[in-house]
Amino acid sequence: MPHCPECQQEASAADSRCPLDRNFFVLSCCPRCQAEVFPKERFCAVCGSDLEAAPVRLAAPLKAASVPARVTATLLDGLALLVAYEVWLSLGWSGGLPAVVLLAVACWGLLPIRAGQTLGQHVMGQVVLTEDRRELDLKASLIRMLAAACSWAFLGPLLALFRADGATIAEAWTRTRTWSLQPDRKKPLAGTRP
Ligand SMILES: [Zn+2]
Ligand SMILES: [Zn+2]
Repeated sequence: MPHCPECQQEASAADSRCPLDRNFFVLSCCPRCQAEVFPKERFCAVCGSDLEAAPVRLAAPLKAASVPARVTATLLDGLALLVAYEVWLSLGWSGGLPAVVLLAVACWGLLPIRAGQTLGQHVMGQVVLTEDRRELDLKASLIRMLAAACSWAFLGPLLALFRADGATIAEAWTRTRTWSLQPDRKKPLAGTRP
């Protein structure tokens, strides 16, 4: 059963985050046979493995965000940045490239830290996490942003959006993913017992 790592509350099927503390729900899996284990279990019920050696933890229902949904989120962020830039100029601060870069870094580099969201990601229900569904810290988020900026600048949008197994090239480099918070009802949760 997916549960909150903080308060142990069991997840409802439609939610990705604990309503109390906003932590992502996790599933604990046996490191040996991958069977789902329950929060306080010491030994795997299937293979008997000792579970004290850090069971693999996966966040509950997330799937990779589709390309159109990601493009929409990026366009929304672009609009938000345009508005922010107008506000910036109206405050009498000097504009130009440094201001644009600063706003872009704040939006795409800083907002996604610790499972935060940009405006576009919030509207589209997306979150950026690592491949194994852990939250990004400042360094990981900035590296990811730089990798994405480079892929767009040097490869072009079509190649930058090309995806091998659900990850764009920048995401494959940085071992991150853009996840959709909408549960995939067609597939059982990863790791659940059949
Ligand atoms: Zn909780
Ligand atoms: Zn096991």
